[in-house]
Amino acid sequence: MAETTTPTATPIGALELPLPALGMLSDAHRRGSRCAWCSTPLTAETAVDAGERDAEDGARIFPRGCADCAGRAAYRLLWEHATACDRCRTDASCPVAVAAQRLMRRGR
Ligand SMILES: [Zn+2]
Ligand SMILES: [Zn+2]
Repeated sequence: MAETTTPTATPIGALELPLPALGMLSDAHRRGSRCAWCSTPLTAETAVDAGERDAEDGARIFPRGCADCAGRAAYRLLWEHATACDRCRTDASCPVAVAAQRLMRRGR
């Protein structure tokens, strides 16, 4: 049995949520051990992936947030995304919108 490698699934953690300025983020924020927005210490249960990305200084960062902050950031991302996304205009199942809405629900 061959393994399927078709890259069709959108991983939930792939959403790059809008973060505070990267220069404001400490090592703990960059590693994802504290909420990138409010600095609350995070556990595996409370942490929400905010989207792995490259920082301005070239380092790979793994920011995470608490459910409240990530929910707010997801709302902002969805707002900005939906105005620019052709798929969202015609199709409610745009993977970005679906993933953002999932995060917004967690924040309640
Ligand atoms: Zn927070
Ligand atoms: Zn979309």
